[in-house]
Amino acid sequence: MDSEEIIELERKFIMQTYTRQPIVLSHGKGATVWDIEGNSYIDCFAGVAVNSIGHAHPKVALAICHQAQRLIHSSNIYYTREQVELAKLLTAISPHDRVFFANSGAEANEGAIKLARKFTGKSEIIAAENSFHGRTLATVTATGQKKYSEPFRPLPEGFKHVPYGDIGAMADAVGDETAAIILEPVQGEGGVIIPPEGYLRDVQELARQNDVLLILDEVQTGFGRTGAMFASQLFGVEPDITTVAKAMGGGYPIGAVLANERVAMAFEPGDHGSTFGGNPLGCAAAIATIEVLMDEKLPERAAKMGSYFLGRLRQVLHGCDAVRDIRGVGLMIGIEIDGECAGVVDAAREMGVLINCTAGKVIRIVPPLVIKKEEIDAAVDVLGHVISDL
Ligand code: PMP
Repeated sequence: MDSEEIIELERKFIMQTYTRQPIVLSHGKGATVWDIEGNSYIDCFAGVAVNSIGHAHPKVALAICHQAQRLIHSSNIYYTREQVELAKLLTAISPHDRVFFANSGAEANEGAIKLARKFTGKSEIIAAENSFHGRTLATVTATGQKKYSEPFRPLPEGFKHVPYGDIGAMADAVGDETAAIILEPVQGEGGVIIPPEGYLRDVQELARQNDVLLILDEVQTGFGRTGAMFASQLFGVEPDITTVAKAMGGGYPIGAVLANERVAMAFEPGDHGSTFGGNPLGCAAAIATIEVLMDEKLPERAAKMGSYFLGRLRQVLHGCDAVRDIRGVGLMIGIEIDGECAGVVDAAREMGVLINCTAGKVIRIVPPLVIKKEEIDAAVDVLGHVISDL
């Protein structure tokens, strides 16, 4: 089958929930992917920051292969070595003591919301406007962009939204029924929005004073993306709960709720569960991924390459009328332009660079953290060209 036939079959047999780019991916290596016609692309999107370690990393491929040959099983009625090894590793690299395994970001956030309600005995969850937390009913309600939830009413109760970055609005919103505040340390889908200096620390202080839990959704920012293993470390906060997924398994689906002992113990046997959560194959992929992140010092690399990328973009796009702002933390970069950016995505792809347009007007750049300087230079050339054409 060629690309055209595959795209036609997708239109016929698959529910049309995605706006897809018209290429059929075949394989990848590092920060490069190929389509089935053999065209190569510098992957500056990495499936929404899903890949940090580079495509087809041999260590992760081998770990998955070895595990698949030994045991693919999904039952939390038994113990597996892989699950405890991964949990131990996660508590060593994060500010948390205990783990619940999920399969996706939305599922991790569902678990976090349930844990916060069970621990506090309260119901209200405060989230930010313009946030994104997932597509399940509770997480789409937590999500602060109505377009995602409006068609699916009635929605679960107990969610409130305040402007992101406004500590005064957050203080006004916290009340007797507030169980938790959930925030992305940097808003991803919302357009790479970086909070004002000190905001997360102020929210943490407010939460502590009011016996409210702080949940950080690090589904997009976690595992090195922002230049630290977790963005909480970069911003100097210690949330009660962190949710992770995306880059955790090097592209293999796995997520988790990470929490502090005090809070985590609110979950008792029977309270929560997931058939596939923490299955040994996913755990083996995640262990190998985290080992690669540490061995290759990829969070540090993200910081270095991120500032190089940002600097080059600012250089090339300097004086470009269509550009409103160029911002980033580590290898999470946004270029805000005047007007719609979908056309830029198409033009860049045709020139061999994969990017993404989010929030309608922000070009999002979230490549694998292994991206090389030459690849950044090549991507900047293409982006300079297509954005200057606007
Ligand atoms: N939280 C954040 C911050 C996200 O960016 C996303 C996905 N874009 C999710 C949650 C949902 O993750 P998943 O698609 O794995 O459910």
